[in-house]
Amino acid sequence: QNVIKKPNNYSPPKQPTQVYKNVLANRKTSIEQERKALPVYHCRQRILKELEAHDTLLIMGETGSGKTTQIPQFLMQAGYANQGIIGITQPRRVAAITIAKRVAQEMACNVGEAVGYTVRFEDSTTERTRIRYLTDGILLREAIGDHLLRKYSAIMLDEAHERTVNADVLFGIVKEAQQERRKQKLSKLKLIITSATMDIDHFGQYFNVKGMYLEGRTHPVRIMHAKQTQDDYIHAALVTLFDIHRNEPINHDVLIFLTGQEEIEALAQQIRQLARINNSGPSDVRVFTLYAQLSQGKQLECFMPVPANTRKIVLATNIAETSITIPGIRCVIDCGFVKQKSFNASSGLDLLKTVRISQAQAWQRSGRAGRDAPGKCYRTYTKQAMTAFPSATQPEILRANLTSTVLQLLALGIDCYSFDFIDAPEQQGVVSAYKTLEKLGGIKSVTVPCITTTGRWLAQFPLDPRYAKLLLSAPSFGCMDEMLSLVAAMNSDNVFIGHADKSELASLAHAKFQSKHGDHLTLLKVFATFQKIEKTKIWCHDNFLNIRNLTYARNVRNQLQEIATRLNLAVNSCGDNLDAVKKCLISGLFENIAMLQKEGHYLTLSGRQKARIHPSSVLHGKYKPPCILFTELVQTEQNYLRQVTEISIEWIEEVVPSIKITHK
Ligand code: ADP
Ligand code: MG
Repeated sequence: QNVIKKPNNYSPPKQPTQVYKNVLANRKTSIEQERKALPVYHCRQRILKELEAHDTLLIMGETGSGKTTQIPQFLMQAGYANQGIIGITQPRRVAAITIAKRVAQEMACNVGEAVGYTVRFEDSTTERTRIRYLTDGILLREAIGDHLLRKYSAIMLDEAHERTVNADVLFGIVKEAQQERRKQKLSKLKLIITSATMDIDHFGQYFNVKGMYLEGRTHPVRIMHAKQTQDDYIHAALVTLFDIHRNEPINHDVLIFLTGQEEIEALAQQIRQLARINNSGPSDVRVFTLYAQLSQGKQLECFMPVPANTRKIVLATNIAETSITIPGIRCVIDCGFVKQKSFNASSGLDLLKTVRISQAQAWQRSGRAGRDAPGKCYRTYTKQAMTAFPSATQPEILRANLTSTVLQLLALGIDCYSFDFIDAPEQQGVVSAYKTLEKLGGIKSVTVPCITTTGRWLAQFPLDPRYAKLLLSAPSFGCMDEMLSLVAAMNSDNVFIGHADKSELASLAHAKFQSKHGDHLTLLKVFATFQKIEKTKIWCHDNFLNIRNLTYARNVRNQLQEIATRLNLAVNSCGDNLDAVKKCLISGLFENIAMLQKEGHYLTLSGRQKARIHPSSVLHGKYKPPCILFTELVQTEQNYLRQVTEISIEWIEEVVPSIKITHK
C-alpha cells in the first residue's frame, strides 16, 4: 500500500526532464569543469581577500557547494601552504579519507603527496603533504604535543555545526593558539570555520568575527510526509522506495537515511532480492550502502556512475547529511531517526540509542535531493510528529562521556572548569568524568584535579582512557601480549561476517573460536589465530571472518605495541591462564559490570540498569553467569549488553578496591 501522501496535482514525469539530461551530460565532463561549476568557485577572490584582512573567517554555505574540497586548494594556490601546512578537520574518518582521495584526484596526484589524510591509526601523509585532511580527534592529540600547532599555517574547522565534543574543544584550543602565536610574534595562524547550516551568531560571538554566506545552488525539493504514523519505518522506507521505483524516471537516484549498519545491510539485501523478483523490464537497481564502519573501497562505490537504465539506491546513515555529497540523488527517503551515543552521568554508562533527528537535520536531509535538479523528499513520519522533534541537534558535549576529553585537556594543562567552551558541559558530566579518572588513577582529587603520571601515560594512547588503562595494568597481570591483541580487536569493527542472521555455515565456522568465558576471549582467539595463519585470505573466507577488519586490528596492535615499548611496558604473556585477561579487563571496564537477578535479567552495577545479554553473544542462551563484564550497553526497545565475559564477583574488589559490592 502507499504510505506516502502525494499531492493530488502531482504526476511524475515520464521522461527525464531537460534539467536532468543536462546533469547526465555533466557527469561526463572533466573534473576541471565540475570544479568551475561549484558555487564556491565564484567566491574565490572574496574568500582570499577576507582571509587576508581577517585572521578568522566564518563561512556558511550549502552542502555540496565546494567548501571542503575547494577552499584548501584556493589557500594553497594563494601561497598559504608555503610556511606551514593547511589542515582541515572532519568529524568522521570516512569523510577525511574520501575527501582527501577526491582532492588528490583533482590535483592530479596520489594521496600522500601534496594532499593526504590522517585518521586514528592511519596516516597517509608525507613530508611533501601541504593539504592535510584529519579527524578533529587527531588535531586535538597533536595539540597535546604542541599547544601552538606550529606545523599549521591555516586550519579549517569543517562541519562546525556537527558540534562533536572534539570540535567544541578544538574551537577553544585553536583560538588560544592563534592568540598566543600573535602574542609571541610567531607566524600567523589563519582559521576558517565552515559549516552547512549553523548558528552563525553563536559562532560569530565566540570567535568575535562576522560570518560570510556562500550563495548556494540548490533546487526546490518537494516534501511529502506520511499520512499516518508508521510503526515500522524500515518497512515504510521499503514501500516508498518501490513506489518511487515504479513511478519515477529510472535515472532519478534515491538516498535513504537510516540509523545504522545492521539495519542498512538488512534492508539493502531485501531491496536487492525484491528488485530481482519484481523486475520485468530492462530497468534495474543498484544498491549501495554508506556508513562509518564500511571499508573504504565500499564507501567510494556510491560515487561511481551507474549504467544507463539503472537506478542508484544509496542507504546511508547521517554521514550523507552534510559531509559527503553523492551525485545524482533526486529522491530522499528520511526515516527520521538517528543513532546517538549519549552518556548518563548519574549512572556512569554510555548508551547507544536510536533517537529522533532534529528539525534542522530533517531539512538538511531533504536538501540532499535538490543538489543537481529539483527533487523530492519522502518523510516516513507525519507532519504533526515533526513538530515534536527538537529544533536543533544538541551539541555532543552536553550529552557525551567526557572522560577522554577531560583527560586530554588536563594533559594540555587545562582544567575543564575554567576552559573557554563555546557551550560549557554540565557540571555533573565533568564531575563524573573526574571520578572515573580518579578510579583509573589518572588524577588526584576530583575537586582540584591534578594529572598523575598514570594520567599522562593514559593520555599517550589514542584510546578511551578506560582502554588505555587495560594496557597500563596488563603487565602486572602478566597478560600484555593478550591485552594488546584484545584492545586492538575491540577497537576495530566486527570481525565476524554474517552476524545479523548467521547462516549455519557461518555459525559452524565461528563455533570453533567460541570460548566458554565469553566474547572477549572468543575475539582474542580469532585474532590470535589470524596472527599465526599464513594464508589469511583463504582462512578468513573459509571461516566467515572479515579480513579487512582483522588486518586493521593487526595494524592497530602494532601501533599500540610501539607506544607500550616507548613507555617501557613489559610485553608478557599469560599463556593458558586466561583468568589474568579477565581480571585485567576489570581494571579499566569496572563501570561495565552486571549481576544476574532472580528474575533472570541483569542489573548493571553502576546506574542499576535492567538489561539482557545481546543475542550476538556467545553467552546468550540457557546458562546465565551470575556476574558479567560487558563492553557496551545498547538501548533499543530494551537494554542489551554487548560483548560480555563471565567474571568472579570476588575479583572486582581485588582489582579495584574502591568498588564495594554490597549486594552479592
Ligand atoms: P561542501 O564541503 O561544500 O559540502 P564538497 O567540497 O564536499 O562540498 O563537494 C563539492 C562537490 O564535489 C560535491 O557536490 C560533489 O559533486 C563533488 N565531490 C565531492 N567528493 C566527491 C567524490 N568523492 N567523488 C565524486 N565527486 C565528489
Ligand atoms: Mg563539506
